[in-house]
Amino acid sequence: MSDHRLQDAIDTLKESGVRITPQRHAVLEYLVESMSHPTADDIYKALEHKFPNMSVATVYNNLRVLREIGLVRELTYGDSSSRFDCNTSDHYHAICESCGKIVDFHYPRLDEVESLAEQVTGFHVSHHRMEVYGTCSECRSKAAH
Ligand SMILES: [Zn+2]
Ligand SMILES: [Zn+2]
Repeated sequence: MSDHRLQDAIDTLKESGVRITPQRHAVLEYLVESMSHPTADDIYKALEHKFPNMSVATVYNNLRVLREIGLVRELTYGDSSSRFDCNTSDHYHAICESCGKIVDFHYPRLDEVESLAEQVTGFHVSHHRMEVYGTCSECRSKAAH
């Protein structure tokens, strides 16, 4: 599954004419395999040992390129560090208030909200975001011990 997604992502990179550097490949691979909505800093720390000369700025640069060709979404939640998501299909996020973990889930019926909003406000709605907050199962089981 993740091999397939990585290959798809690499094909998209090739088609868009973006050069595939080893670092860019590694950033993409990390995003596809971790599925954890990491920050640029998380990615940097995970790849530091493979690319000792790589800086956080390089990671940001690569993320920007991947975002521009639509392979990654940048998620901002009002704090300083953006999270990066390589799941670009429509989905929602459950966010753990204790450890900050972000988990994907789908709820297609919410698409009706966009057409309702258009009718009510006269806006042309481009997209919407929804997050639910709580405590993940790992944090709950930790708290129980
Ligand atoms: Zn948690
Ligand atoms: Zn996501």
